[in-house]
Amino acid sequence: MMEIETANQSEIVDITAGVERHVQESGIANGICLVYSLHTTTALIINEADDALLNDILDLMERIVPRGAGYEHDRGDGNAHAHLRAALLGSSVVIPVEKGRLALGTWQRVLFMELDGPRKRRISIRVIREA
Ligand code: ZN
Repeated sequence: MMEIETANQSEIVDITAGVERHVQESGIANGICLVYSLHTTTALIINEADDALLNDILDLMERIVPRGAGYEHDRGDGNAHAHLRAALLGSSVVIPVEKGRLALGTWQRVLFMELDGPRKRRISIRVIREA
């Protein structure tokens, strides 16, 4: 389990180092690593952690799922846009593990997306050995 405390309403956090640490502590050389967010208003993606690109991704979310666009769920807690963005992006990623390390491409990073922060968030990390 990994816990993170986000600082903004929307933000993207590079959690690659923390995931890598879990993989190393597992002692598993070859297999897969599941990273799973235990929330309905967050997402996990694999992409490049370039600041300009991260802003572009957040801007894209604003454009394709604007806040307060007449959603039914907004009659409840007012965060329908966050749930809808999370539904589009997905709540988990699976990464191959090779020689005890995450087998990521050169520019690939594990990115946690806060969509309704700031909040304390929990991410489950499981490393599964190749049969
Ligand atoms: Zn809600």
